[in-house]
Amino acid sequence: MSTSPATPSAAAEPAVKAVQVHKAFGDLHVLKGVDLTVAPGTVTVILGPSGSGKSTFLRLINQLETLTGGVIEVQGERIGVKRVEGKNGTSYLQTLTDKEIARQRSHLGMVFQRFNLFPHMTALENVMEAPVHVLKMDKREARALAVKELERVGLGERLDYYPAQLSGGQQQRVAIARALAMKPDIMLFDEPTSALDPELVGEVLGVMRSLADDGMTMIVVTHEIGFAKEVADQVVFMDGGVVVEQGGPEIIDHPKEARFQDFLQHVL
Ligand code: ADP
Ligand code: MG
Repeated sequence: MSTSPATPSAAAEPAVKAVQVHKAFGDLHVLKGVDLTVAPGTVTVILGPSGSGKSTFLRLINQLETLTGGVIEVQGERIGVKRVEGKNGTSYLQTLTDKEIARQRSHLGMVFQRFNLFPHMTALENVMEAPVHVLKMDKREARALAVKELERVGLGERLDYYPAQLSGGQQQRVAIARALAMKPDIMLFDEPTSALDPELVGEVLGVMRSLADDGMTMIVVTHEIGFAKEVADQVVFMDGGVVVEQGGPEIIDHPKEARFQDFLQHVL
């Protein structure tokens, strides 16, 4: 279980609140009314079979896709649109500008199955890139920050290595450091260990566990059931574009819904 860094007030806004989220790609209705609330400083693990809409849901939170229906709020602020007062007491929804969307997205860090590091840059340069080019941070300051984040993921000795000189697990840890360097409030992980050789999974999960221990708010899509049991505050099982079952990590040992029981039998 993660512990919150500061004592959040009882009225603290949810980090993420999704209400009746729908997403269709043309005729393909992928998410069919997903509700989810994530409290600050907690870890939510999303489980579910391939094609159930898990990645789409994370991509919606991070505005890599646009909603077909429903509402997502991040730290109390609705994403993607704002309500504008019209004449005579009417109001309407207006799509946010790219700049406003970029500001909303800056609260979120995302780590994908494929690490997508820049191959021609060292670990250090990969982590410095966004602070320098997006945040316009001074290079010296960005370098110090990148060193700190790489040390945090256990790669303080690999600063000048290129991605091709690093193992998959090390590359994924650089990707985590790169996301952390942007000082996100919430980290989204989409099957961060699925592309790794089995012997490299543990080092990445270890970094994620220490982030959780530091109080980071995290939403993690993974098939790592052990991680879910030990680290999750909340477990969500999705299938067919809906949340089928959700609860504390104990639901993994005592699933109620047949579809969740079947799924667990296949992944364990
Ligand atoms: P999961 O991550 O649970 O495996 P996804 O969210 O990736 O599921 O995909 C759910 C469904 O949506 C799949 O049928 C997938 O093919 C479809 N899908 C995802 N992204 C797109 C897209 N950009 N265009 C069309 N279909 C998509
Ligand atoms: Mg996926």
